[in-house]
Amino acid sequence: MLLLPLAATGAVLGAWAYGTYEPNSPLFGRVIGRGSRAGRVVYLTFDDGPNPAATEPILETLATEGIPAAFFMVGEHVRRFPGVGRRVAAAGHEIGNHTLRHRKLHFAGPARIREELERTHALIVETTGRAPRAFRAPHGYRNPFVARATRRLGYTVFGWTFGVWDSDPRVAAEEIRRRVRARLRPGAIVLLHDGDGYDPRGDRSRTVAALPGIIADARAAGYTFGSLTELVA
Ligand SMILES: [Zn+2]
Repeated sequence: MLLLPLAATGAVLGAWAYGTYEPNSPLFGRVIGRGSRAGRVVYLTFDDGPNPAATEPILETLATEGIPAAFFMVGEHVRRFPGVGRRVAAAGHEIGNHTLRHRKLHFAGPARIREELERTHALIVETTGRAPRAFRAPHGYRNPFVARATRRLGYTVFGWTFGVWDSDPRVAAEEIRRRVRARLRPGAIVLLHDGDGYDPRGDRSRTVAALPGIIADARAAGYTFGSLTELVA
């Protein structure tokens, strides 16, 4: 007689884990993890900045190549490096909210989640003059209160199609490039990092070095780069 409730509990826990840890799961609200599969368009996204030593050269590469990208920014880093945040905005890239302190939100309550999101929203507006319309959860971890807070702010929530562990110091620039080339597919939202969620001056030189090759490989395979703005609801 105990088996049935136990099985039901297991199913609930399984669903909860799916909604929490799977960055593209729709259980706790709609999430965009990939664009249209119809054409050969891919989307570059950079998380955890702004971070002068990486964001600036990434902006230069994107400008040289004429490519749009999205930057999911950490509020405390925007406060520390407002000029870099402004340059991202001035270049016309999509700016997203990535919480104030890169906190994992899955165990956070509604007040903490609202604080993380709303203070970051205000910081980005004050700094760049632009209101973010996109959100990505640190590590993709969410819960029902995250959905409520993003709805209140009118955000489109993004996951990603694939990451390549470019924040791991053991992964060299050539390997970052190779991994992106191997996993590219139509509509892919590519997760890269111009910053570190906790270290405001985290070393992202390998991602910076990999970017021109990533762009060249994608173009050679017939892809163009879309703006995540097209996918904002
Ligand atoms: Zn992050």
